[in-house]
Amino acid sequence: MSGVADQPRLAESRQGARRDGARKRVAVVGSTGSIGTQTLEVLRGAGDRFTVSALGAARSVDLLAAQAEEFRPEVVAIADATLAGRLSELLPAGIELRAGPEALISLVETADIVLNAVVGFAGLGVTVATLSQRRRLALANKESLVAGGPVVERVRHLEGAELLPVDSEHGAIHQCLASGRAESVSKLVLTASGGPFRGRSATELAFVTVKDALAHPTWQMGPKITVDSSTLMNKGLEVIEARELFGVDYDHIEVVVHPQSTVHSMVEFCDGTTIAQLSVPDMRLPIGYALGYPDRLAQPYGSLDFKALGRLDFEAPDLATFPCLKLAYAAGRAGGSAPAWLNAANEVAVAAFLDGRLSWPGIAGVVAETLDLHEPSQLADIDDVLEADALARVRAGEVLGRHQSST
Ligand code: MG
Repeated sequence: MSGVADQPRLAESRQGARRDGARKRVAVVGSTGSIGTQTLEVLRGAGDRFTVSALGAARSVDLLAAQAEEFRPEVVAIADATLAGRLSELLPAGIELRAGPEALISLVETADIVLNAVVGFAGLGVTVATLSQRRRLALANKESLVAGGPVVERVRHLEGAELLPVDSEHGAIHQCLASGRAESVSKLVLTASGGPFRGRSATELAFVTVKDALAHPTWQMGPKITVDSSTLMNKGLEVIEARELFGVDYDHIEVVVHPQSTVHSMVEFCDGTTIAQLSVPDMRLPIGYALGYPDRLAQPYGSLDFKALGRLDFEAPDLATFPCLKLAYAAGRAGGSAPAWLNAANEVAVAAFLDGRLSWPGIAGVVAETLDLHEPSQLADIDDVLEADALARVRAGEVLGRHQSST
């Protein structure tokens, strides 16, 4: 960490923020997770372009306090209020502490840009607040668009509200779309690494372990998303996000397996031209793009060496072995509350797999059977999304119980 040397400069830039409108104030909500810590690395490297106005986390008190010590935000929030006492002992003087479930949402008011890296449904509140308050949302929270798409749609077009994706694929598509008009787009092509089980048959995958599923070939990520990558559910969720972000219908969103994870996604235009975005697989690139857009940050995170790269491979996804991708398209096409059910069922199933209570093929089984029980509902606000999610989790739990008693 280069924190010590950078500290005076960051402190200065914070004090200067109100005088100098060019310095963007960033709230990093979910600052202690994988995306959050990488965001702080990007901000550390970006010098005085940004200032950190707020940091927030669910429970990681020690890391949050260390981050506050380095970045000196105005406000720090902890969602779990029982940890507030401990955090207040660790925080440097002069930083306001907020605690409780609404505390993360309250950080929005401090910032020009809110980086939402909250895990789970707490992130949906942060998303809606950021867009409603007409600020830039750099979005890394999956639930916001997958489960809460219809709710986010109501606030994202407000004047001044901006939604920039923090994901390598959607960041790539955002960049490729700059090459032509929206009405000239003929399809979006999302690339998938294929995960650790690419090329394996269903029979070979019947008894894979948690350890096998967590061995991702190209990306370092948390356990839930790594398992989602092994089932291709991650790509399925990204297809739904792409539909919500870019307004392209499911018939014009394609997934192609690309094991090198160098082409991060592509856009084909009506004249047959395809624009691709290539870079090393490093999440700091899409994070920096979302923070800096339309400018580019000067800090490079790796450069491609085409001579060393040699070749780029592309192949069709194996939908028979990886049915989760098909399930996601079906839920996306059904729309309404179906993607929320897909997301909930998948979370229940992946948690059971990580616990050793469900086999790897059982993940797709539980999701498929839960979607068969889908009871469609209108999603007008966050409470509607939470209700749909809760009901889906009950049904998924029942389905899971049947899977466990049958094995
Ligand atoms: Mg991705």
